[in-house]
Amino acid sequence: MKKLAIIGGGAAGLAAAVAAGEALRSPGGSNASHDVEVVLYEADERVGRSILATGNGRCNFSNAHIDAGLYRNGAFVRDALIALRGRSARRDSATAASCDENPVHEFFADWGLEWREEGEGRLYPLANKASVVLDVLREACAAGGVREACGSAVVGVVPPERTGEHFHLRFADGAIEHADAVVVACGGRGLAGLLPERYRVASARPVLGPLRTAGSVAKSLDNIRVRAALTLVDAGGTLRAREEGELLFRSYGVSGIAVFNLSRHASPGDRLLVDLLPFVAEADCESYLFRRRKRMAAHVGELSGEGFLRGLLLPPVSRVVLREAGLRSEALFSKADVPALARSLKALPFVVEGVGDARQCQVTRGGFSVGDFDATTMESHLDKGLYVVGEALDVDAPCGGYNLHWAWASGLTAGRAAAVQLAG
Ligand SMILES: Cc1cc2nc3c(=O)[nH]c(=O)nc-3n(C[C@H](O)[C@H](O)[C@H](O)COP(=O)(O)OP(=O)(O)OC[C@H]3O[C@@H](n4cnc5c(N)ncnc54)[C@H](O)[C@@H]3O)c2cc1C
Repeated sequence: MKKLAIIGGGAAGLAAAVAAGEALRSPGGSNASHDVEVVLYEADERVGRSILATGNGRCNFSNAHIDAGLYRNGAFVRDALIALRGRSARRDSATAASCDENPVHEFFADWGLEWREEGEGRLYPLANKASVVLDVLREACAAGGVREACGSAVVGVVPPERTGEHFHLRFADGAIEHADAVVVACGGRGLAGLLPERYRVASARPVLGPLRTAGSVAKSLDNIRVRAALTLVDAGGTLRAREEGELLFRSYGVSGIAVFNLSRHASPGDRLLVDLLPFVAEADCESYLFRRRKRMAAHVGELSGEGFLRGLLLPPVSRVVLREAGLRSEALFSKADVPALARSLKALPFVVEGVGDARQCQVTRGGFSVGDFDATTMESHLDKGLYVVGEALDVDAPCGGYNLHWAWASGLTAGRAAAVQLAG
């Protein structure tokens, strides 16, 4: 009996296991092929724990509008998604139509998952619980005869030196097992030493998390949320990235989905410019403030800086903006103060110290270089029968279901390819 070893029972590993089980099922029958055993090695005591934490426990498992250009190493991702779509033979054309011919969505629909779309194309299970996604995957694994080996941390994969020999898997407890093909699906952390040195590994750093900022400004606004447009520039003022959305001030810096997305591009020393009036064009901002001042003065009479911003911003935010403009909150707000206030409102600056606590970050940037793998199968160019998928590859994307989509898509691709190779 040959063995397909899948290392890591997270999103990508489970998808690979299901796809392998499906591909190995005897035609027309429900039993797994007896020639190839699929084993899912998971370091944790149970598979899929990482899935349960996603989307605040609701699992934003994909997006209705997958765009390869949003991903790091987007050309590799595009080739992979095109190849997966090309290979997905539909059993049921009605399902294909309802899923917009997205093979990942078809896969989940085939196994019974129902979902709904929220803002910006985010897809969540209809039951609104991540556990439902895991239930579906585990049921599909069981149907494909996949064996779960939990509490099994693989510390090294040694490819065969000659054709006909096996892969050696080294475990944390010193045990050694053999396999005929291996799918590495162990996420983005702890990759050093897992594969032979000839594999290039881009150094890993946690991203999709909050940003730490210098100074005490953010601290004075802790827990306040604002709608804002955010611009990240490097120390020389060159644009790195832009995002718009909700910003949450924290004692250590800034958070929120827009900040998470910017964290993929941020380096220490960068400046984050917060536009608190995203609905007013920069060129129109002064005239907007002049009009507002004239209108308010007709009713209120003399205005202080804080009085002028009342009704527009929360008082703690107003005080920070006025201070940045060099104005005193209680001092009379004159026409001459408008240009400085406009600048402060349109680009309140924060200096980035770094990405926040790694435990708050959603993905790890870095991983095995995509240049060593075939995008159409996820198989290594260096060792036949070795596949790497999900976050273990140097691929990441913004929030919105894109990262899990990649985990499923790459897992399905590798699981199928490895099973077909072993069965053939
Ligand atoms: C809090 C949080 C929320 C998120 N929310 C979303 C979301 O809503 N939508 C979205 O698209 N993305 C989300 N992400 C990102 C998404 O979860 C990951 O991109 C995705 O899980 C990556 O899948 P993976 O299978 O490559 O890795 P993982 O899901 O991390 O799975 C790796 C598995 O391998 C196991 N493992 C690791 N090393 C070994 C080893 N040596 N031997 C054996 N097993 C090993 C781990 O225990 C784990 O089970 C979120 C991430 C976090 C942290």
